[in-house]
Amino acid sequence: MTQRKPIIIGNWKMNCTIAESLDLASKLRDVLGGLRDIEVGISPPFTALSEVVKRVQDSDLIVAAQHCHVEDGGAFTGETSIPMIADLGCSHVLLGHSERRQYFGEDDRGVNAKAKKVLAAGMRPVICIGERLSEREANQTFEVVGRQLAGALEGLPASVAEQIVVAYEPVWAIGTGKTASTAQAQEVHGFLRGQLLEILGAEAGATVRIQYGGSVKPENISGLMAQPDVDGALVGGASLNAESFIGILKYDRQA
Ligand code: PEP
Repeated sequence: MTQRKPIIIGNWKMNCTIAESLDLASKLRDVLGGLRDIEVGISPPFTALSEVVKRVQDSDLIVAAQHCHVEDGGAFTGETSIPMIADLGCSHVLLGHSERRQYFGEDDRGVNAKAKKVLAAGMRPVICIGERLSEREANQTFEVVGRQLAGALEGLPASVAEQIVVAYEPVWAIGTGKTASTAQAQEVHGFLRGQLLEILGAEAGATVRIQYGGSVKPENISGLMAQPDVDGALVGGASLNAESFIGILKYDRQA
């Protein structure tokens, strides 16, 4: 059976000054030594990325950008290009987060174009997908996440599978305090695993890590991580507090 190293990333969204970011990053860096069996990442706001990368450079802490523009440069006021993010020293970029889809019109084609460029720049995309509540209630969950996954991966070779992370985040569970049950999470992760095997081939598809995201907390992480196709978590609110994020990172490995 393919062993996938779990990956847990904290998405700080539009929160934290530079000083607050450095404080949080330092606390996480200091506990990493005891957590060698997982990959740990943080995604601070753009304003803090440069300082945070410098602060954690001697550690294994992953630093991810929350967003990027698809063009390398030009007249796109306020945007940040993939080469600029690589230049900052980030190793990962979140793509297609539901808040980007909802408020900024991001779609699967754009996510796909960005994923290709992020990989070409030597970084790793974290591709976020997930259904809205109305879609779940209309029994469209598999159709929606299947379409989002296939759209995001279109044209990507199987050779990049290990560099890709997929984050399944049911929109109704993000920032709402409502977590998918472990069975609901595994049901969708299992479906996504099947899709990955079909799209990328059995060997490569088995290596892609699938994170769960949506109100993950120290209290619910262990049950989620015990599911066979849950390979990590993308954590929003609970990653803004060192104690709760460290509680998540120290989930019960035997659960
Ligand atoms: C997220 O923003 O990706 C997320 C999952 O947020 P929260 O953990 O706050 O639900």
